[in-house]
This record gives sequence, structure tokens and C-alpha cells, in this order.
Amino acid sequence: MKVLVINCGSSSAKFELIDMTNEQSLAKGNCERIGIANPIFSYKNLLTGEKIDKMEVPMENHTVAVELILKTLQDEKIGVISTVDEIDSIGHRIVHGGEYYEKSVIVDDEVIKNLEEIAPLAPLHNPAHIMGIKVIQKLLPGKKNVVVFDTAFHQTMPAKAYMYPYPYEDYTDLKVRKYGFHGTSHRYVSEVAREMLGKEDSKIIVCHLGNGASISAVQNGKVVDTSMGMTPLAGVMMGTRTGDVDPASVIYIMRKRGLSLDEMNNRMNKKSGILGIIGTSSDFRDLDTAKKAGDEKAILAYEMFCYRIQLYIGAYVAAMNGIDAIAFTGGIGENSVGAKQYICDALSYFGIELDKEKNAQRLPGNVELSTKNSKVKIYKIETAEELVIARDTYKLTK
Ligand code: ADP
Repeated sequence: MKVLVINCGSSSAKFELIDMTNEQSLAKGNCERIGIANPIFSYKNLLTGEKIDKMEVPMENHTVAVELILKTLQDEKIGVISTVDEIDSIGHRIVHGGEYYEKSVIVDDEVIKNLEEIAPLAPLHNPAHIMGIKVIQKLLPGKKNVVVFDTAFHQTMPAKAYMYPYPYEDYTDLKVRKYGFHGTSHRYVSEVAREMLGKEDSKIIVCHLGNGASISAVQNGKVVDTSMGMTPLAGVMMGTRTGDVDPASVIYIMRKRGLSLDEMNNRMNKKSGILGIIGTSSDFRDLDTAKKAGDEKAILAYEMFCYRIQLYIGAYVAAMNGIDAIAFTGGIGENSVGAKQYICDALSYFGIELDKEKNAQRLPGNVELSTKNSKVKIYKIETAEELVIARDTYKLTK
């Protein structure tokens, strides 16, 4: 039973093939710059370690890209299957499920119709996902496709958390509300944290800190609130996204700089955040290096990044009227010793106490990082979004 996990973007297709009999990941890779100049293909056979590293290959569209993926998976030398018949089903990562989906579902005509209807809410992502499903249906006919939504886990949020105080018709007519994203990660990480805590009644704050970053408050397995909004632009500061700002500042900057809607959208999504402040990189490792070298803007960006997370954690302790555990995940959450230290130190009032030495050891796997005296458990948990997509796909199709 092998599941192919696909994440189609407008010019990319990430993939991973997972054997569900032992949840072993067999191969993974990425097609980038599909349909634009200098497309590149990366692939790794996870059984042998053999790989194709950023090879330039013509990929004029997603059909060609998926054909290349399937051909490579079956390659005599670096492939991991002998025929596509070994792929039982396909799990697609979908950014936006709107209000339709609280759970993953098998693709049928109605699903496609709903995804098309929701597309205006995620104009960069959902059309690409629909295209990905159609390409797979064409190239792997007869196989079941499952859609797993970034928004689904957050659908349990109460209305008081997801409603924005615009005129009510903006919700009824336009579906403007908070949806939240990274749901697959928040779901998995909060479940692991709940197991590590060893209690059903639990108040957990998940900090998913990667290039995109979001925080969620999960009470007894249900999302109470989350930091991203109608789009992934809201919430904490990110690699290239602003996170929360005064909405009036958006209008002011557009007016003063004479920017179009698209230019401002691009400025807020691609040119802001860490990159916006330091100007040279959006990568947290670069920020960390510059901060350690005493670069003033880097120190500022680092503090802004951590401070905003600190504020969200405080707000979510309030939202749940308590806290049992904080779980850090994502590239920064899992790896940055300094960010976890900064954030936890700033929250000592809540009885949050990080074991500094254990944190500095950067242990692999899922580990508890709080001291014995800490009133709140602190965990580092490795997220596994592809595995969750594969598990849902397997469960629905086996
Ligand atoms: P995404 O999936 O959103 O693209 P990731 O979860 O892979 O992102 O996280 C990428 C971020 O993690 C980058 O900002 C990167 O610098 C940061 N990161 C990775 N390794 C480390 C590390 N050792 N220390 C600090 N930050 C790290």
C-alpha cells in the first residue's frame, strides 16, 4: 500500500511516496519553476540516499512535471517502484477548504466544484491544486485521490474567534472570516503533545514556526483560535510576510507610494517580515548569524519575531484560560535554540521554564524541554505533514 503525496503550487509540484505498511518514506522531491524559465527537478531515493540535485529539465506544464515524477519513481537505477500500479492512492495537500471541509475527503466531481468555488479565497493556491488533481486523474486513471486541507483542523473554532467585525454581509456574501492554515501540522503536533502530556483534557499552544508561521490554541483536541486569518498573511511576523499590522497602514502606504493592489499584496507577502526588516534574507539562520555578529537590524528583527510569538502565546493562554503545554515545530521551532529560549524566558510569569541545557543539546525527535519545576510542559515536536496526508489518504481509501 503506497501513497503518493502531492503538493501542487502554481509553478511547483512537491511529492513524496510513502509505504503505509510501515510508514516508511521511499522517495521525495520537487519540481520547481514549472512553465517558467530554467525549471529544476530534485529527487531523493530515501532508501539508498541517491539523488538528483536541482537538475535543469524542460517542464512546460504540470502534466510534463508529473510525468517526470512518475518516470523517476519507476527509474531502474534511482526509482523505488517498478510500475505505477504499486501506487494505490494519491493524497493532495490543499491550502483552502473554505467552510466546506472539516476533514479530508475522497475527490469526486462535487469536491472539484467546491474547490473551484473556494478558489477566489486562495487565488494562488487552489487553482494550482485543482490542476494537480486533474493531471493525476489523467495520468493515473482509476486511482483514488484524497484532498487534505490546511484549513480543516481549524474549522472547530467558535464564531467569536473566526468572525471579523466587518459589516455582517461581508461574511455572508464574501465568506470573509478567519480560516487558519498549517492545520495538518497543528493537528499532528497537538496530538503528539497530548500524548506526551498523557491527559485527554488539555490546553496546548502549538507554535509552527517555519518560513510561514502560525500559532494555535488547541483545547481538548479542538482549535479554539489560530493566528493566521482569511489568508496566511495574518498573525505573527514571518520570513517574508508582515503578519498583523494596522489595516489603515496598508491604505496609507499604497496611497503614499502609489502602489497598485497587486504591488501592495506582493510587498506584504513577499517583501516584508524578516526580509523586510534586514533587507538581505528571509532565512532565520541568516538572521541568527547577523544577530550574533551584532547587526542592529538583525537584532531588531529577531526581537520583533520572538516578541510577536510571545504576545500570541499570552493571548492564547487567555483564550483557553490556562495552559498545559507549548509545542514548538517547523524549521525554526524545531531547530532554533535561541528563539525558544527568548520566547520562554519572556513568559516566566506563567510558570513556563525551559531547560536551557537540554534545549541547547538540540536532541533529535520529539522531546520535552521544560524543567522539572516548570508549570507548563515545553515540547519540541517534529512536524510530519506529508505523513498525515498519507495517513488520511490511506484511511479513506484502503
Ligand atoms: P516552510 O516549510 O514554511 O518552507 P520550514 O519549516 O522548512 O519552512 O522552516 C524554514 C525556516 O527554518 C527557515 O527560516 C530556516 O532558516 C529555519 N531553520 C532551519 N534550520 C534552522 C536552524 N538550525 N536554526 C535556526 N533556524 C533554522
